[in-house]
Amino acid sequence: MLLSVGFSIIFYRTSTAGLNIQLSNGPVSVHNESPTGPDPQATNGPIIVNGNSDTGMNVSNSVSGLNVQLQKRIDSLRQALVRRLVMLNVGALVLGTVLSWYIARKTLRPIENAMEAQTRFSSDASHELRTPLTALRAKNEVALRNARLTLTEAKKVIKNSVDQTLKLEKLFDGLLRLSRENGKGLAKASISLEEIANEAMNHVIAQAQARRITIDETVSHINVIGDSQSLVQIVAILLDNAIKYSDRGSTIYLEGGIEGKHGILSVRDDGPGIRASDIPHIFERFYRADSARTKHGEHGYGLGLSIAKKLIEQNDGAITVKSTLDEGSTFTLKVPLAKS
Ligand code: ADP
Repeated sequence: MLLSVGFSIIFYRTSTAGLNIQLSNGPVSVHNESPTGPDPQATNGPIIVNGNSDTGMNVSNSVSGLNVQLQKRIDSLRQALVRRLVMLNVGALVLGTVLSWYIARKTLRPIENAMEAQTRFSSDASHELRTPLTALRAKNEVALRNARLTLTEAKKVIKNSVDQTLKLEKLFDGLLRLSRENGKGLAKASISLEEIANEAMNHVIAQAQARRITIDETVSHINVIGDSQSLVQIVAILLDNAIKYSDRGSTIYLEGGIEGKHGILSVRDDGPGIRASDIPHIFERFYRADSARTKHGEHGYGLGLSIAKKLIEQNDGAITVKSTLDEGSTFTLKVPLAKS
């Protein structure tokens, strides 16, 4: 605005200075010595009227009238110039304000979003941590107040505390992973889907055996590009869920294949399935679909799938789910194929 106003003042000064020069050449007078041909002074200096004749007086009158008109015209030109410059500056001010507001909003939006996500993350995390901590404290306090607590009862309380602590550790791990994972430090290389599947199965085999669940693995040697550690982690999350939510003694299918330029790895179960209305939300942090939770009494913290989604996106892949309530679910990973 300062620049605009400054330029306007300079422009006004230079423009009106030209007009002042013209006027400062003095009032117009008439010179009747050379009726024919151009008078050399007519352009550069005052026009002089000589003689006392009536004609001279008339000419003098009309010239001074002309002078007055000229002065009026110059004044109105000056006013018009001032008006235009003011309008121009007001326009620049309005445009500048709107533009600055728009640019500021555009620049600040990512920062605002990041702050919002951070706040949401902190409040979600503290809410999730508070519940098990309160339960843990309450149980221990009750046991402490019980003067006739037997060794067996004490052991039971301690076991419960250890279980809760393990769960909390898991939750902390998940939260840390979610807040840290930014894709930096991923070691992307060519890796076989078969290797990923086998490695992930090693992570969950004890859990599957405990529930007498069979994992039917038919993944062949297909090379994809990605970070092996995070890909194994994703498949382990999907297997862990399938085991957690499926019936005892059931079978989980781990299959592989190729689709266009992607390697495909899917985890299929005949578990409780996911309600259609829950599907759009299951990849959100801390989201747990009630159907799966209440039916089997098993539940986590709703972090597994959000971690899996984040990790697969960092590997330039994608995760999708197809599920029918009471029939089962299929989670499918898409990872870019390695160039052969
Ligand atoms: P959680 O720790 O609760 O399993 P996830 O983020 O891994 O968290 O999963 C989110 C929700 O998606 C689960 O609470 C569950 O309701 C649903 N879900 C995930 N996998 C399955 C599955 N294989 N079968 C049925 N429901 C599932």
